[in-house]
Order: sequence, then C-alpha cells, then structure tokens
Amino acid sequence: MHSQFTAEPSSNDTVDRDPTVGDVPEPWSPASGANRAPLMFDVIIAGCGPTGAMLAAELRLHDVRVLVLEKETEPASFVRIVALHIRSLELMAMRGLLDRILQHGRQRPAGGFFAAITKPAPKDLDSAHAYLLGIPQPVINHLLEEHATDLGAQIRHGCAVAGFEQDDEGVTVELANGEQVRSRYLIGCDGGRSTVRKLLGVGFLGEPSRTETLMGEMEVGVPRDEIAARMAENHETHKRFWLRPFGEGVYSVVVPAAGVGDRAEPPNLEDFKQQLRAIAGTDFGVHSPRWLSRFGDATLLAERYRVGRVLLAGDAAHIHPPTGGQGLNLGVQDAFNLGWKLAAQIRGWAPETLLDTYHAERHPVAENVLDNTRAQMELLSTEPGPQAVRRLLTELMDFDEVNRRLIEKITAIDIRYDFGEGPDLLGRRLRDIDVQQGHLYGLLHRGRGLLLDRTERLTAGDWSDRVDCLADPNALLDLPSVLLRPDGHVAWIGDDQHDLDDHLSRWFGKAVS
Ligand SMILES: Cc1cc2nc3c(=O)[nH]c(=O)nc-3n(C[C@H](O)[C@H](O)[C@H](O)COP(=O)(O)OP(=O)(O)OC[C@H]3O[C@@H](n4cnc5c(N)ncnc54)[C@H](O)[C@@H]3O)c2cc1C
Repeated sequence: MHSQFTAEPSSNDTVDRDPTVGDVPEPWSPASGANRAPLMFDVIIAGCGPTGAMLAAELRLHDVRVLVLEKETEPASFVRIVALHIRSLELMAMRGLLDRILQHGRQRPAGGFFAAITKPAPKDLDSAHAYLLGIPQPVINHLLEEHATDLGAQIRHGCAVAGFEQDDEGVTVELANGEQVRSRYLIGCDGGRSTVRKLLGVGFLGEPSRTETLMGEMEVGVPRDEIAARMAENHETHKRFWLRPFGEGVYSVVVPAAGVGDRAEPPNLEDFKQQLRAIAGTDFGVHSPRWLSRFGDATLLAERYRVGRVLLAGDAAHIHPPTGGQGLNLGVQDAFNLGWKLAAQIRGWAPETLLDTYHAERHPVAENVLDNTRAQMELLSTEPGPQAVRRLLTELMDFDEVNRRLIEKITAIDIRYDFGEGPDLLGRRLRDIDVQQGHLYGLLHRGRGLLLDRTERLTAGDWSDRVDCLADPNALLDLPSVLLRPDGHVAWIGDDQHDLDDHLSRWFGKAVS
C-alpha cells in the first residue's frame, strides 16, 4: 500500500458537514481541482487509543471538525493496569476529568517506581496531585473516548487508515475498504506500528527489541502462600518473573519470553509454562488464561513529528520499554501540546511557527523519556556490573534531592520548554494553586489561554477571544502576573502591558481589534 493514490471525483461538491460537530470557524473552500473530494473535516486522527482520543477532545474544545478512525471494532480484551503520573493527573484536572477518572483507579504514593527501586515518595512534591493512579488501560481509553464524543468528535470504529495523499490544501485519506475521506490535516495516533508513520517514510530510529516479555492473566494450581514465598525469594535473587493476585483466583503473570518473536502473534499458555519452568523452576500449575500477550523492549523515536499536513503523536512517534509506566502519559501529553496549536492553525490565528513548536518541544521530551527507560533497563539487568550500579543508585536515592529528581522526571513535572531567557518558571507548567474562584485548574476547562494578573492593571485586551483574564491580587503566587498557554505552561512572567502584548502576539497570533 502506498500513499500516492488518486482521489476519485466527488459526486457531491458541497461541503459535507457533520451535524454533530459545532460551527465551522470560517467559510470552507473545497480543494481546488475538480478531482478532489471536498474537505469534509478539519482533522482526521488515525487511531483512537488514549493519544487519539485526547487529541480529538482538545480539538473539539475549539470547534474543530474531527473524525477519528479506529481500526478495531471492539476495545482490547486485555486489562493492563497502567500508571497515570502527576502531570497527566494535572491535565485531567485542567479539563475537569479528574474526579471521573479517580473513581476508577487506585491511588498510590508517587514513589518507588524508578527501575522498581523501593524508596518512599519524596517529600513536598510540587503538585496538588502528588500521587500515582493505577487504572486499567481499557477504562482510561474508554473515559477519554467518551470525553471526546461528549465534546462532539466523530469516532468510527472498524475503519483502518490504509493510505493517504497530501497536497497544498489538505490530505485525502484512504480507508482499508477503499473509501476516501478528506481533511485539512491528518494525525497519526495509530500506535507503535503506525501505518501513517510508515507511509510518511519518517525514520524510526533507535534500538529494536532485544528481549521480549510474556504477560497475561490466568489461574494457578498451587496455594497462595506458596506463590507469596516464591515471590519473596524472587525479590532477593532478582529473577525477572512475577505473579500477582488479581482477585477471584486469577493471577497476573509476567515472565521473560524465550526469544524475540512475531509480536503480531499472541503467545500461548505452553509458552508461559515453559518459561516459568525455565526461570522459576515450576510452572505454578497455571491454567485457564483470560488473556495472553507479549511486549518488547524496543526504544525508537520518529525523526520528525511533522511532514507538511501530517503529524505524529503518542506511540506512533515513540516507543520504549514500559519501565516506569510512561508511554501512555507521554502520548496524552503530546496530544495536549498539539491540540490547541493545531486548532489555532485551523481557526486561522496561529502565529507562523506555532505548529512547528510541537516537534521542537515534544521531540526532546520523548528523547529524555527514552533515555530514562534505557537507564532503567540497565538497572534491571541481572549482570554483576548493572547490579553494582543499582546498589549504588539505591544508596544515593536516600538523598531526598536524588529521589525527587528521578520522580519529577518520570512524572513529567520537571519539563521546561525553551521559551528563551527568563525566570525559572518560564516554560514550566504552573501547579494548581488557590485563586479567588477556587482552583486555578478549574479555570482552564475550556482549553483557552489564561492571564493571571496579581497587579490588577493588565488586560488580555484584543486577545480576549482566545485568552481569559483573572485579576486576583491574592492568588498564591510569588510573581506579579503570568500568562498561561492552554496546556498550562507559563508563556510570560511580568507586570508590563507592552511586554505582555508582545507575548500575547507571539503565542496567540494577531490581535482582533
Ligand atoms: C506491559 C505494558 C505496560 C504499560 N504500562 C504503562 C503505564 O503504566 N503507564 C503508561 O503511561 N504507559 C504504559 N504502557 C504504554 C501504553 O500502553 C502505550 O504507550 C499507550 O497505549 C500508547 O497510546 P497511543 O494512543 O499512542 O497508542 P495505542 O494505545 O497503541 O493506540 C493506537 C490505536 O490506533 C489503532 N490503529 C492502529 N493502526 C491503525 C490504522 N491503520 N488505522 C486506524 N487505527 C489504527 C489501534 O487499534 C489503537 O487503538 C504500557 C505498555 C505495556 C506493553
């Protein structure tokens, strides 16, 4: 399959608007050239995993017409518990989703997950949501999809993207069934084996899988005490298998695979038994599997996140081993960074380089995550050298600063985008703080910029169609005023209106007077 197909002439040259989608921001011109289908959507998203669903919702906050194409007809059958980390929890709070999500997960202290080195959570982490939330991935996927649909995104299941062709005005997307749909932009959120990335020809650079791990849920044929004793012993010897009770006699089983295989093919129960016998000395009588899967330790990063009108986000742009539980978090945060920028581009007010700041900001963040997972994988090795480094790091993590630094890295609250010279907070996210109306994050639900003005002299003026203004001299902030982007990062700090206007125009485009 290749992306260079010719779009069929459309029998209908009017714009096909979806009635569930909000008002279109500007008059629509169908692609020039009589043989192109009309631009039916602003954005097509390939893949409705957490990244695609989050992006669709972010775009809908700005009335962008979104179609999400999802290959699968049904949600995944395997129930993997994933960790949502501090920054993602903050983003959920910023969009009014956190309370709903908390009902479905279990809170744990935000510590002890760097290379599974057991240390208590560092003191005074700088967040109102300084914990980890364990939640089944199908549940978070469902909640984000529901959020996107509630906001008016159209999601079609059982529709795989098979090809596309981009031109000056848009992208014609071909589905596996031969149907064509056209939009202004296409975003590949279609996971690690992304069709969109492959068709774009963007390099996916790094290390392929060297090892694989089997993971599944099944019943066991030995008493619970015996498993607990073996797991305690396992902890001492650092053998990398794992049986954890999952309720009703079902165990979650993780064990290294015999080798690197075809991951499109799920493993079978015999693979698990064989590997448990080889590594643990017994297969624990495992039987009656609920689901079985395998994952690898490939560490790969897309060279570019954008080629013209096609962009990549989430696992489509980066994959790495699941150590530290960061992949879903990283993808959702990509979506948060991209959503408002792409919406600005479509609404016509984006400054010229705004969309390119997506790659400039997020590519280095992914590089960093890939690096920390490489380091963690080394620390999990059973070889004497890495084990010695692990012992040393374990000792060093008794220093609060070291422990804190590693947790801030994994939970993504250490990110500072390069917005130029300025105070340390410039480019960082602002934590949720108390303001007159309650919580700061409660004012960010609509995905707009926010001027938090403690001087009571400043105004968002001609940008007030995109930026809200909160004058609050008592806000719990040790600075005169800050301008927040819709993703909650600090774009400006100061007290001078001219300087503020310059920064409003840098991030929010031309003023509407
Ligand atoms: C064992 C394990 C544990 C993990 N634990 C954690 C954790 O604790 N925390 C964490 O943050 N991350 C964790 N992850 C990683 C996390 O699961 C992924 O990073 C996350 O699912 C990526 O989301 P995504 O939306 O980018 O891609 P995906 O979840 O892969 O979604 C992509 C979607 O695109 C669809 N698709 C594919 N091709 C097409 C096509 N051609 N057309 C249309 N649709 C298509 C797919 O069906 C899928 O629904 C773990 C991963 C593993 C393997």
